[in-house]
Amino acid sequence: MMITLALSKGRIFEETLPLLQAAGITVQDDPDTSRKLILATDHPEVRLLVVRATDVPTYVQYGGADMGITGKDTLLEHCSTGSGAGLYQPLDLQIAKCRISVAVRSDFDYASAVQKGSRLTVATKYVAISREFFASKGVHVDLIKLYGSMELAPLVGMADAIVDLVSTGNTLKANNLVEVEHIMDISSKLVVSQSALKLKQAPIRRIMDAFAQASKPYHAIAE
Ligand code: AMP
Repeated sequence: MMITLALSKGRIFEETLPLLQAAGITVQDDPDTSRKLILATDHPEVRLLVVRATDVPTYVQYGGADMGITGKDTLLEHCSTGSGAGLYQPLDLQIAKCRISVAVRSDFDYASAVQKGSRLTVATKYVAISREFFASKGVHVDLIKLYGSMELAPLVGMADAIVDLVSTGNTLKANNLVEVEHIMDISSKLVVSQSALKLKQAPIRRIMDAFAQASKPYHAIAE
């Protein structure tokens, strides 16, 4: 029985490889050089789909994949629209860790803007997370939805602030931005289709258990 795992290129793919290895699964193609979107593994029951990060939950939900690996950020945004039905999130893999933060130009006085009750224009890919965060602080915001390079928006005067993922902080620094709020910690999770789990219970459980075992050292680091 074939199990299809959806994941995205970049950090998540790179940090998933060692987990797959530990589970005894070796990927036979390199997504950076191969143009294939379906990658075979040496495991006869497992293949990978390489999709856009934001599409991972959709593939799992609509049966294109049985399971997927995606960031908590992507899942929160996806599920905020009420479209998280049928997705089971059994395991935080503790990989691709970063945080989601608010950042502003270093010459923008965020604290006093908030204190004065100013209305802030915020550019972000994370509209739901941002709306919820600023509402909880009682800050009025106008959100501008962007799909990438959020860092540009404050530099060209389009927004007062951005909400984006931060890892080392180098991207913010290179663009003269400073982090002013830490909204939440992010890591990647395993998501499983509830209907696939019913139909392919045994092989999916085997992979889930292998991932749980393989990600144990990461959990130890997290604690
Ligand atoms: P850094 O310069 O290390 O703080 O990384 C920031 C840039 O990398 C931003 O453009 C983020 O959107 C992106 N980024 C950071 N961490 C992650 C992650 N875990 N997954 C995807 N993108 C990330």
